This record gives sequence, C-alpha cells and structure tokens, in this order.
Amino acid sequence: MELSYQSMKIAHQAREADELRTEMRRKNLLILIYQELLGQGYMAAALALDQETNGGVRKFEVCDNIDLNMVLTEYESYHYVKFQKYPKLIRRKSEPGQGQSSAKSGTKKSPCSSVKPLPKISQTLQPGNSVKKTAATSHTNEHCSALPTELLEFGLNVSSIRSETAGETAIGRKVQMSDSKGLINDIVKGASCDSDYMEKLLKPLSGFYGMSGEMRELAAIISKDIYLHSPDVRWEDIIGLEDAKRLVKEAVVYPIKYPQLFTGILSPWKGLLLYGPPGTGKTLLAKAVATECKTTFFNISASSIVSKWRGDSEKLVRVLFELARYHAPSTIFLDELESVMSQRGGEHEGSRRMKTELLVRMDGLAKSNDLVFLLAASNLPWELDHAMLRRLEKRILVSLPSSTARQAMISDWLPPLSTTGGVELRTELDYETLAKEMDGYSGSDIRLVCKEAAMRPVRKIFDALESHLDGDSNMPAIQLETVTTADLREVISHTKPSARNLMDRFTAWEREYMSV
Ligand code: ADP
Repeated sequence: MELSYQSMKIAHQAREADELRTEMRRKNLLILIYQELLGQGYMAAALALDQETNGGVRKFEVCDNIDLNMVLTEYESYHYVKFQKYPKLIRRKSEPGQGQSSAKSGTKKSPCSSVKPLPKISQTLQPGNSVKKTAATSHTNEHCSALPTELLEFGLNVSSIRSETAGETAIGRKVQMSDSKGLINDIVKGASCDSDYMEKLLKPLSGFYGMSGEMRELAAIISKDIYLHSPDVRWEDIIGLEDAKRLVKEAVVYPIKYPQLFTGILSPWKGLLLYGPPGTGKTLLAKAVATECKTTFFNISASSIVSKWRGDSEKLVRVLFELARYHAPSTIFLDELESVMSQRGGEHEGSRRMKTELLVRMDGLAKSNDLVFLLAASNLPWELDHAMLRRLEKRILVSLPSSTARQAMISDWLPPLSTTGGVELRTELDYETLAKEMDGYSGSDIRLVCKEAAMRPVRKIFDALESHLDGDSNMPAIQLETVTTADLREVISHTKPSARNLMDRFTAWEREYMSV
C-alpha cells in the first residue's frame, strides 16, 4: 500500500516537472522570438508580443551568444546526424479555397513541420551538444539562474545551448562545415518542392530609421519596385552576348560572391551602364543579375520617376539609395536612363534638382563600402549627361545579335517540334539562311518574327474552332500546318529591323566612350 502511494507520488511529481518544463520552453521561445523581432526591426510585431504577454517578454534578456538562429542551427545539426538530411521547417500554406491541405491531398506532413514543437535534444545523439549539466547552469544570467536547476538541463533551454556553443561544439561545427554541400542540396530540394520558398523576405520598413513620415511613405512606394520573386532569367536563357554576360558577372555578380577578392585596386565598380539598340537583351541581363545574385533588386523605370514624381523626384532618388543601403546587398536597375539624365539644357527646375541628387548619391556610393550597385540601361547613350557618364565607370555595349546568335534564337523559339496548349507545332526551317536574312534584327525583332510565323497556321484553325464551339463539346483533332522557311520569309518582308540604322552610331559612340 505504502509502495503504491510512493510510486503515485513520484509519477505525479514527474508529471508536474514535465508540465513546468514545457511551460519554461514556451517562455524561452517567446523571449527568443521577441529578441529576434527586435533585432530584425519588426518593431510593431515585437510591441504586439510584448503587449500580449503583459510586458512579460521584456522582463528578460537572452543570454550571451544565444539567438533563435543559433537554436535552429543546432537543431539542423541534430537532425542531420540523426536522419542524414537537413530538416524542412516551413512550407507554404495552401490558399483558402484551394482545399489542398496535406491530409486531404494525401501528402505526408513533414515530421519537422514548424507547427510541431522542437524535439528534445538527446544528449547522446546530439553531436556538438554534449550538455554539461553543471556547466550549463553555471553560465546563466539573472533570468536563467532564477530557474530551477533541473529544468535547465532539459530541452532547448537557453542556458544549455549557451554552454554548448561556448564550449565544445566542434563536432557540430564540423558536421555543418563538411556538409555545407549537403545543406545546399537539401535547401535546394526543399525549395524545389515550393518555388515560393526563396521569395525575398524584406526587412521591415519600421526599422528604416532616420526617416520622416513623408520619407517613409516614399520608401513604401519604392519598395513596390523591389523584386520579391526571382524573375527567373538564367544566364543560359540569354542567347549570345557572351562578352556582355562576362562583364556583367565580373562587375556585379562576382564582387558579391567573392567579396574577399574585390578589395583595394580591385574594389567593385559602383556604376555600370548597359547601352545598345532597343530589344537586344539589356533588361534580360539585369534580370539575370537579379536571379543569380540574390541581392535586393530595385527595378526602377527612370521615366516613371520623372513623370509620376515631378515634384518629389529628388526625394524619391534619395530614399531609393537609402533604402538600397538598408536592404544591402542591393542592385538598383535604372532603365531608360536617358529620360532622367539627358544633357539637354533648360529643363524643369525639379528635374535639375533630381539629376543633382542622383549624381550626389552615386558619389556617395563610390566612397562607401556598402554593397550597393547601380545598373543603368540606355538606348540613347549619346543623350546622357557627361557628369553621369563619368560616374558610370563601366560601360558595356549590348549589341545586335551576331549571325550565330540569330540562328540560335530562331531554332530556340521555333524548334522542329514544339507543343502549345497541347497542340503540336512543327517547323521545317533553314535556320542558317534565315539567320543571314535577318541581319540587323534585334533579339526582340526576331522573337516577333518567330511569333508571327507561328501564329499563321494557328490563325487558319480559328474558324474551325469557333464554328465547332456552337456544336458538340468534343474538341476536334487539331493538326496545324507546318511552319516553313517561306512563311518566315513572308513575315520578314513585312517586318523591318527596328535598330539597324542606329548601329553605326552605337559603334562610333563606343569608340569615343569605351571603358576598359
Ligand atoms: P532591351 O535591350 O530593350 O532591354 P530586352 O532585354 O527587354 O531588351 O529584350 C526584349 C525581348 O527580346 C526579351 O524579352 C527577349 O524575348 C528578347 N531578346 C532580346 N535579346 C535576347 C537575347 N540575347 N536572348 C534571348 N532573348 C532575347
């Protein structure tokens, strides 16, 4: 009788200790989140958390060398050692109405879903986390030492992790370092299941200090021009332009990838001008930078700055550069530069002030170590202001496509067999001859020709489709006519190259203003 009373008492105490531990973990987590929100500048969210906990989270501080990121890193190492792969912690929720809950769709819910509590770290399994019971508790600050000692030895409490990092996390670190490739693979794999995973998560504007209310409003406007989704243009999607691609990589991509190489005399160019006839791939190059670089990418149309913000353009430029610094590393892409920086005199006072502001900001960039690059594009470089040109140290001619590039474009856009909307489109084309005949055509001209040629057989079946819709619902079998070289010739005869006559002017300008 006495024995069973004893065992019941022990069980009861164990349960109580368990509940207390869970409560402690929850509290620790909230405090870590609070610190993270503050650190990242999510002030409004931090304030809300503070209010909802009646100021509870504010009463504590996180021990030295601890933060949420580190806790997650430790968890990832643990997971890697246990399962030989890194955990997938989050995934996109299905849109309301989609009804794609994982349970319904039959997809297995990840065991590491963020909604589940982090598992207790086993002391034997966790590589770098050899929890030293006494040491763990001895390094605590006021908050931690106020906790019952035995509670600190369990789960992901702040103090134990602190002692682990301060102490021997060598194995853990080794696992992380030697397996960085594995991590990248895992991340990529995770991302590929959810293409939005890599979406840019911007720092909050509330952390954008030193700005008046008006400036903050302008910042919010400019933030709309930041690419949050990758534009998904890879280098290999850009046909030809090998020199331009190499130079852009050297000027913008590599300094971010290998910053240690770009110091002193090799310090990166701050301003780069892509110039050339319209439709030759300047915007594509900028989009490839945005895709490959993972910098915060500001896609700004210069003409919209002027037209929409006549009065405020100068302030807008100032906020643009401040915001780029705030979100650094950043790339500012200013398209149609000539519309803001032309050398024509007698303009509007506001426009003159804006030009001056742009020049001042570029000087600021050149002097700073901030990773902010200005990528400008112009179809009319001879119209550009000389002061601006001097600051765009690197100038790259994006020329009309060569014969080989034209051939590659036609065969890429009109291959012998392709499918559109489930319908097969066949072509029989003499690519080499057509490429020769399209001398002087820009990439976008060639795309237009290809599109128009592909449209011809499709047009012929519209009538049949339209009359059929009134009848029965079965689609008739559709057989498109083959697109031939004659079809393309016919289209070419009606399409004039948009920039052939300009090319001489570009090469002359290149000779005069060529950068190294
Ligand atoms: P711009 O030089 O005027 O900025 P874009 O980069 O916007 O020209 O190109 C317009 C379109 O022309 C692109 O969306 C693409 O379809 C096509 N294009 C032009 N040049 C190339 C190229 N080198 N490779 C692939 N597509 C190209």
